[in-house]
Amino acid sequence: MPFFEIRNIEKKYKEFTLSLSLSIEEGEFLSIIGPSGSGKSTLLSLIAGIESPDSGEMLMDGRDITKEKIQKRGISMVFQDFSLFPSMNVEKNIQFGMKEKDKAKRKELSDKLLEIVGLKDYGKRNVSAISGGEAQRVALARAIASEPRMILFDEPLSALDPPLRKHLRAIIRSIHDSLGITVLYVTHDIEEAFAVSDRIAVMQGGSIVTVKEAEDLYRNPENLFTAFFTGEGTSLPAHLLFDNTDAYAFFRPESAEIVEDSISEDMYPRHIILSDCRVISAEYTGSHYMLGLTYKDYPVLVESSRKPKKADVSVKIPKDSILLLR
Ligand code: ADP
Repeated sequence: MPFFEIRNIEKKYKEFTLSLSLSIEEGEFLSIIGPSGSGKSTLLSLIAGIESPDSGEMLMDGRDITKEKIQKRGISMVFQDFSLFPSMNVEKNIQFGMKEKDKAKRKELSDKLLEIVGLKDYGKRNVSAISGGEAQRVALARAIASEPRMILFDEPLSALDPPLRKHLRAIIRSIHDSLGITVLYVTHDIEEAFAVSDRIAVMQGGSIVTVKEAEDLYRNPENLFTAFFTGEGTSLPAHLLFDNTDAYAFFRPESAEIVEDSISEDMYPRHIILSDCRVISAEYTGSHYMLGLTYKDYPVLVESSRKPKKADVSVKIPKDSILLLR
């Protein structure tokens, strides 16, 4: 039995319908990614109990919590805008939802949580006098303080700059690992989802397209939408490369290789060769070049360790790294 189960839940707005099922294991770190408007926030609101579904049910440990009040669900939430109480200091913010009533013990616990999130001695500070990164760590400590069974994160790092985002995502993952709390983490940043998650669910138009481990998601996307949402790549009408297929041939830039000498298909029976490609751009990324080419007027993206000397090149791609997608 999964720890948290969403069974055929539906929520209809005027122009949008969310309709899905999803299971989360105890102690799992599950991320949800999807474009803006795909229903990620709506899903979190339903799980938290801020919104109620039109039909379907949600079970925690097999118990139906679909109609249970927010406070009773044992779920806490961390938002993009931190949502701290401005009139309370850091310590009071953290102690807000604590079950413990004894004053000394509350203080002891908030001190411990501040240490866990790396903010020792910040307790008496005013929340308006701390940085965005610090505020999000306070929000994290407050979310843990209520001893939830599950924490929902709604794009928690979007308001922070990239180096801080990387630092905080590592803190969030390590706290998850040490406390064993179940986490549902919404982000639109695929790199962030890859870095922190046990599994990733991809949402599109109110549904879940797929739920997979990061590497499997990147290597074996279900369709073109998931393929391009989870990384870069090239899609060519498959009939250009294979006989009798109306799908698209998709490959990642690192699977392909440019060849500047003339080659023939017979030399590489396990590869597909795109001859007469033209190099249009070569962007240096620090670790490699990302080459933009054209093949029969279609754009092709190839990762390369060197910049090609010629503008006219061939591209070879191992057949087993090409996916047929729609
Ligand atoms: P995401 O978080 O993936 O960006 P949302 O869950 O915020 O997506 O929104 C999904 C869709 O539901 C959007 O088209 C949005 O306009 C619509 N929506 C969300 N909340 C409401 C509401 N209270 N009333 C009407 N439409 C809503």
